[in-house]
Formats: sequence, C-alpha cells, structure tokens
Amino acid sequence: MLLLSGKEVASHLYEQVTQQTKAFIAMGNPAPTLAVVLVGDDPASATYVANKAKACEQVGFRHIDYHLPSDSSLEQVLDLVTRLNADSTVNGILVQLPLPDHIDSFRVTQAIDPIKDVDGLHQNNLGALLVERPFLVSCTPLGILHLLDYYNLPTSGKNAVIIGRSTIVGKPMAALLAQKGRDATVTMCHSKTKDLASITKTADILVAAIGKPRAIDASMVKKEAVVIDVGINRIADSSKKSGFRLVGDVDFEQVSPLCSAITPVPGGVGLLTVATLMGNTLLAAKQQRRS
Ligand code: NAD
Repeated sequence: MLLLSGKEVASHLYEQVTQQTKAFIAMGNPAPTLAVVLVGDDPASATYVANKAKACEQVGFRHIDYHLPSDSSLEQVLDLVTRLNADSTVNGILVQLPLPDHIDSFRVTQAIDPIKDVDGLHQNNLGALLVERPFLVSCTPLGILHLLDYYNLPTSGKNAVIIGRSTIVGKPMAALLAQKGRDATVTMCHSKTKDLASITKTADILVAAIGKPRAIDASMVKKEAVVIDVGINRIADSSKKSGFRLVGDVDFEQVSPLCSAITPVPGGVGLLTVATLMGNTLLAAKQQRRS
C-alpha cells in the first residue's frame, strides 16, 4: 500500500509557486496579494485562516486578513467583498466557509469578482470548468489532481466514484476527472444514493467527501483501489490537550490494508488544498496583469 503524502506533494507545489512568484516579482510586478475574510469565531475556520496566512508568507505573497464579528450582516460582508473587488492591489479573495447561518453564502461567493475568486466558487468559474475552459478551480479537487499526477496514478478509463456532491468538492471533482485528458468514468453518490457500497465497490479511484467520521469501511472498498479521503472530522480524544483529534471519512485502519494507495488524515488532502490556493492566487495575479 502506498501512503499518498499530502505533505510531500504540497512542498513540491510550494516550491513551484515560490519560484514562479520570484520570477513574477522580478518582472516588476507587486507580490500577489490574498485577502482572507473570516466571519465569526469558529475555531476550525480560524485554524484554516491561520494556515493560509502562513502559506502566503512561505511563497512570498502578501496577505490581508479581515475578521468580522459573528453577528455581521450579509450587507456588511457584501460591502467588504465589494471593496476588495475594487481594490487593484488585491488579487485573490477568499471568504472562509462555512459562514454563520444567517448569512447566505451563495450571495457572498457570487459577489466575488470571478477574476479574484481563488476558491473557484463563482458560477462563471464553475461553468468554465464544465465547458473545459477552466480558470480558477476549487482548491481541494484541483489539489487531488496534483496528488494523482505526482504519484503517477492514471485516471484514464478508470472507474472513479465520488461520495459527496458539494459545490466545493464533489461536483468540481466529478467535472475534473471526467474531462477530456483525464477520461475517468465518473459516478457521483450522495446522501440519497441507494446501496452505496455496491457502487463504491466498483471504484478504481474512490474519493470520499462526506463529512462523517470513518463512514467508509472495508466492506465498501474494492481491493487495490486508490482511496482519497477528503473528510476532516473532529472526534473526542481525551489523550489530546485539545480534547479532540482529526479523522477522515474513511476508516483508515480497516481500509488501508486493502487498497493500493490512500491519503492519510491528517497529512493528506488538507495540506494540498492550501498549497493549491497559493497556485490559484498566483494564477489570478498573472491574469489581472494581462487584463
Ligand atoms: P458538505 O456537507 O457540503 O457535503 C457532504 C456531501 O456528502 C453531501 O453531498 C451529502 O449528500 C453527502 N453525504 C452525506 N452523508 C452521506 C452518506 N451517508 N452517504 C453518501 N453521501 C453522503 O461537505 P463538503 O464541504 O463537501 O465537505 C466534505 C468533507 O470534506 C468534510 O469533512 C469537510 O470538512 C471536508 N473538507 C476537506 C477539505 C480539505 O481540504 N481536505 C476541503 C473541503 C472539505
């Protein structure tokens, strides 16, 4: 079994982005700038935002962090996005999700200028992906493609099963794997799928993005499958200072002996998401210099 190290692939991506950023700045351009907006005090979101800031520093970007109180109104968040859209020194805008329940996240993600939409959630960017003219693509699924490429894991003609149909992971993952050149035969499953195991057992490549700790067990996985675990779930663990630890959507202990390759949690897809965000921010900055 091959352990697919998100850490190793991420450090390769950071290296690439750092070199390209140096070249970009040497051509007289300002350092790419990412604005990250956090609304409220969700501790997991605060950690993700801190990781993004650290990543920006690592690759030579400027970052600006905005922290709005949890009782901010939709209008206040939209006002900030509008200001950042108009600010020519800002190349990428990321609003950390999930937003507090009273804020319509669709309104917020669609308010971001598509050329600064480094999370790839604007309908223009999602549509561009579907017509196979991708520009800014959601970081997690794009990171998974980088991982498959890094380990030379072929997708052409493979049965890929994706569990989860979210706009940020499942749907763009399906579009990426089915596109020409990737050529996987894609099945997307979700909470209403009947007899999930009978479908997941057909997967040469299984991507789990459900948000349920260790929901995918050995009975659901084909021998020699490549298993990509997107889930990041906190479970109670009194032996940890924090009182919790992270597990994926896949039962790693049960499934790893069966499969040919698997991503761990932590240390897998999560690290790639942040590294891919850096790639997207550089791409956005380059596109903005051209237009
Ligand atoms: P989501 O809640 O938006 O979507 C979950 C999907 O899973 C839904 O489409 C739902 O239909 C499906 N689902 C739920 N229960 C199911 C079941 N029992 N059987 C089959 N399908 C089921 O979640 P999301 O934003 O796509 O995130 C999924 C997981 O991935 C979460 O754990 C999240 O924390 C994690 N995540 C990780 C990264 C990363 O960087 N590694 C990025 C984004 C999300």
